[in-house]
Amino acid sequence: MHKSLTWLAGKVAVITGGASGIGAATARLFVQHGAKVVIADIQDALGLSLCDSIRSFASDSVHFVHCDVTSDSDVGAAVDAAVAKHGRLDIMFSNAGTPGSPAISIRDLNRADLENVFNVNVFGAFNCAKHAARVMIPARKGAIIFTSSVVSVTAGMGPHPYTASKHAVVGLAKNLCVELGEFGIRVNCVSPYGVLTPMLAKHIGLYDKEVGERLISESGNLKGAVLEEEDVAAAAMWLASEESKYVSGLNLVLDGGYGTTNPGFVEAVKRL
Ligand code: NAD
Repeated sequence: MHKSLTWLAGKVAVITGGASGIGAATARLFVQHGAKVVIADIQDALGLSLCDSIRSFASDSVHFVHCDVTSDSDVGAAVDAAVAKHGRLDIMFSNAGTPGSPAISIRDLNRADLENVFNVNVFGAFNCAKHAARVMIPARKGAIIFTSSVVSVTAGMGPHPYTASKHAVVGLAKNLCVELGEFGIRVNCVSPYGVLTPMLAKHIGLYDKEVGERLISESGNLKGAVLEEEDVAAAAMWLASEESKYVSGLNLVLDGGYGTTNPGFVEAVKRL
């Protein structure tokens, strides 16, 4: 078999938020590369139908569990399901997330929205890390990957709660990398720029794929390419695989250089 098809041979993964968007693309890619995957999500119908479509090319490689990442016991049960089914857990992809309400001024901050965003994005990440560590520490190996966001390195792009929550995820990943390094467990983040998933489409109210991708492409730094779910999946797969065996504590930003540039001055000059 070609090497690229064996990146995750025999590995076992839990993917939260795995029923849609980035998580769904990652579930497909992980299975294509030899992994057994437990998809953990609150969208049962979508998760089950994704499993059916993956089983058409890999019969016993994917399962769905209903899992709300804000619930410690749900996440614990998802991890236990992976261990019961496949004997161990090698990869935790803590990817479920919510953007919360569209950007509003700090003066109008909605406490309930703030709590919802932190419950899913931050407390959910803590639950995933805690239960993954529970089974990875005795095995003395594993890879934990969080989906953060370009907003962890570029301010002003998203609502305050979302931006703060994604910074918290990077902080958690880096702190965990220190604690868990002793046990051979690597902890990293992927931080994508805009990807036209159902979440982003709903958040910005834009459902036309062509128009949405043009918007993302035109606003980006790197021209001639559009970031897609599969690109984020590929980055997660690299971080999950032995190909990145000495990489830990990394926030892998997939933004075509967006976070390194501020075109404001140049654009203001052009408008003169
Ligand atoms: P998506 O809506 O396609 O997928 C998100 C999934 O998370 C959904 O299946 C949803 O049901 C699930 N989910 C939400 N709350 C949950 C909960 N409490 N418990 C379990 N599952 C839950 O969106 P996506 O864009 O693929 O989002 C995946 C991750 O990527 C999120 O963490 C998001 O913040 C991050 N992200 C997205 C973009 C983007 O532009 N799409 C950019 C940067 C980061």
